[in-house]
Amino acid sequence: MPAGLVAGLIIVAGLVTSPESAGQLVPVEPLVARARRAGLRVLAGRHLILATDRPAREGDGVEDLPAVFDQAFEVWCGHYGMRPADHADWRCFGCLMADRERFRAAGLLDDTVPPFVNGFCDRNRFWLVDQSNPAYRRHLLLHEGVHAFTLTLRRLATPVWYNEGVAELLATHRLDSDGGGLRLVPTPVPDRPEDVEQLGRIEEIGKLREAGRAPSLVEVLGLPVGNHGSIADYATSWAAVALLAGHPRYAAAFADLERGRLDPDFNRRLAGIPGWDAELAARDFDAFTADIDYGWDFERMAIDWSPGQPLAGSREIAVDASRGWQNSGIRLAAGGRWAMAASGRVGVGSVTDHAGGTTTPLESEPDGISLQ
Ligand SMILES: [Zn+2]
Repeated sequence: MPAGLVAGLIIVAGLVTSPESAGQLVPVEPLVARARRAGLRVLAGRHLILATDRPAREGDGVEDLPAVFDQAFEVWCGHYGMRPADHADWRCFGCLMADRERFRAAGLLDDTVPPFVNGFCDRNRFWLVDQSNPAYRRHLLLHEGVHAFTLTLRRLATPVWYNEGVAELLATHRLDSDGGGLRLVPTPVPDRPEDVEQLGRIEEIGKLREAGRAPSLVEVLGLPVGNHGSIADYATSWAAVALLAGHPRYAAAFADLERGRLDPDFNRRLAGIPGWDAELAARDFDAFTADIDYGWDFERMAIDWSPGQPLAGSREIAVDASRGWQNSGIRLAAGGRWAMAASGRVGVGSVTDHAGGTTTPLESEPDGISLQ
């Protein structure tokens, strides 16, 4: 991968979370006036006013961003059990910047904003460095949008892993165009790499795992505060929030937790949710990051870790090929010898010969499959 692309993957994004200013909205109108005076393009939706120095360009998707943001706003409200109608007047002001100096000159980027690589959020304002890839630009815009939403409407002041993890979770989406309109489809775990170009989180976790550097859940929950998170930090924070929000063992209790106070005590209250078992959660997180892939289905991949019984004589076990790792119910003592045999067939997909118009199902036997 060229170095430039690696740099493009990093969402180094700052966040202002001082408790005094959290929740207070910055008035948007004066900012809009400044942007117009400076000759910037101003794109307005219901919840987002976006000022940009990007010249208008057919097909770059920039003009769709406020409408995409408004759809995302409804998703975020749903995530936190809020009614969008109760927050119909909530607005944030974003700067999509090709040249930061133009925004400085316009009085829209002052020295209170610390240096940042890709994005920065302060209450209901955010700044975003323009990206060449439309999908990745949209992702970063929504990432900063989630910060603006949670900082103001939820007064978020949680540990870093949750701040960044939930921003990543609620920003991940694909865009469907049906009937001429654009439809934002939230995908907490993306279905296909083509839906999230340049995001690279699943690949990053795979690389960490291969290198033996995948962090434990405890390490992720303890991520230190700082403006210069690495892509590994974003990827693993996302993985932690995705697991807790998606895994059937945690999803309901975690949703309740998220709808409560998002304060610095969040980790302690996580440990207090009904049925929380830190050791089990650590194993679930390791299992998730070990096998993570596009289209992950938490329901089917949930593992029953309960201990088995010693094996006396032979046993036959049925394996459900539509699920992930399964509990045999058997416990084997170290040092013994056992024989294991498997039989059966499983469908793993199909290949279509478009020229001949035929579709051949692909099946595997216990020894594996050969595509020839
Ligand atoms: Zn962020």
